[in-house]
Amino acid sequence: MSRLFAKGFSTLTCIALVACAAPASRPSAAVGDVVALSGGPNTSMVYLGRVATGVVAIDLGWWGAERSFSRALRELRASPDDVTDVFLTHSHRDHIGAWRLVRRSRFHVAGAERAMLVGERRHGGWIPRVVERLKRSDLPRQAQVDVRTFSRDTSFVLGGDTLFAYVVPGHTPGSAAYLFRGTLFLGDAATYTRWSGFGPARRGFSDDPQAAARSLDALWARLPRATIRTVCTAHAKCSPLTPELLADIKR
Ligand SMILES: [Zn+2]
Repeated sequence: MSRLFAKGFSTLTCIALVACAAPASRPSAAVGDVVALSGGPNTSMVYLGRVATGVVAIDLGWWGAERSFSRALRELRASPDDVTDVFLTHSHRDHIGAWRLVRRSRFHVAGAERAMLVGERRHGGWIPRVVERLKRSDLPRQAQVDVRTFSRDTSFVLGGDTLFAYVVPGHTPGSAAYLFRGTLFLGDAATYTRWSGFGPARRGFSDDPQAAARSLDALWARLPRATIRTVCTAHAKCSPLTPELLADIKR
C-alpha cells in the first residue's frame, strides 16, 4: 500500500495575529507507487501506481514532465506502454505535460472537462486565459488520445485495486478528485500557501471559485473518510485528513 505522507514535514510558525495553518508535507511513496515532481512556477505532481493490469497515472505534470515521468516508470520497471489508464484532475496545462508519452493510454476525465482537454473550449479563469493568449497550451486533439468520461462519482476497478473518482466542478467545469490506496488527490480543487495553509481553489485560476468552494464542501460527506490517510493537492502539498485540515480548507 502506498504511503504518500512523508514524515518530517515543515511546520509553519504561528505568530500573533496569524492563524496557525495545517502543516503540509511533501509526498513520498512506497513499494508499488512512485511520485514524480515536474517543474514550472508551481511544482506539479504526477502519481504512478503499479496495479495488476499495468500502471495507472494521476495527472501528468508540466515542465520536464516526460523526463520525471520516465524516471518514475523506470523505478516501477515499467515503460510508457505499460500505462493503461491516466486520470486527470483537470486539463490546465500544468497537469497534462506528459500526455504525448502516454498517448496510447485511456485518458479519464469528468465529462465537462473533455472539450477543454482536446482544445475545443477554453478555460474560463482569467489567469489561464491571459496565459493562453501569450502561449497556447500543448493539448492533445480528439483523434490523438482515447478520452473516457464520467459524469458522476464513479469507481474504477484496476486489477485488485479500486480507484474512486469524485466530480468537484468549479476550478474547471470538469475538475475531479481521486481516491486511491488511501490518498485523496484533490488536484487544484484545494490549494496551499505558506501564509494561509490549505484552502479552496484559487480565484484567478478558477472558472467559478464559488462553485469550487461548494464542491469541496460537498465532497467531504461523500468520502469514505476512515480509508483516507493522506490528502494531496496537485502541487505536492499533503496532509493527513484531520479536523484541522478540514477547518483550514473551509476558511
Ligand atoms: Zn488548475
